[in-house]
Amino acid sequence: MVDLIKLLTDIASGAFTGPISRERAKLFKQQLELRDETIRTLERKLADEVKKRTASDNRAYAAEEQLAAVLVTEDHLEHAGVLWKRLDGGGYSPQPVCPMCRAPLSVIMPNFGMRCAPCKFITTFKASERIHVHAEIPS
Ligand SMILES: [Zn+2]
Repeated sequence: MVDLIKLLTDIASGAFTGPISRERAKLFKQQLELRDETIRTLERKLADEVKKRTASDNRAYAAEEQLAAVLVTEDHLEHAGVLWKRLDGGGYSPQPVCPMCRAPLSVIMPNFGMRCAPCKFITTFKASERIHVHAEIPS
């Protein structure tokens, strides 16, 4: 690839005169146009990729919402981002369930969110807040 800065410096310094100077200026212009075209091509490709990525993200988001809707069935209620199993006698089990795969969530440390071992989901509330969160479930 032609070094445009060197070429421009040469032209500006007056190192070339007459037809040589015009030839150099022409080469400079051609190279600039070539690079402009390359930039436009790359910009189009980038815009296409962004569009594809956005569409893909939207599809993933829609799929997640569908999954969540399927998971929240009659025997579970979603509260605080997790599922709680309805008990036959009324109320909800104090054991929160993963909203992604329905595995029971476990305590790693009291000051950390509860974790789903199979899918690595982590609750937004701390394990130590579980009893409080459970008590907030609307009946
Ligand atoms: Zn899970």
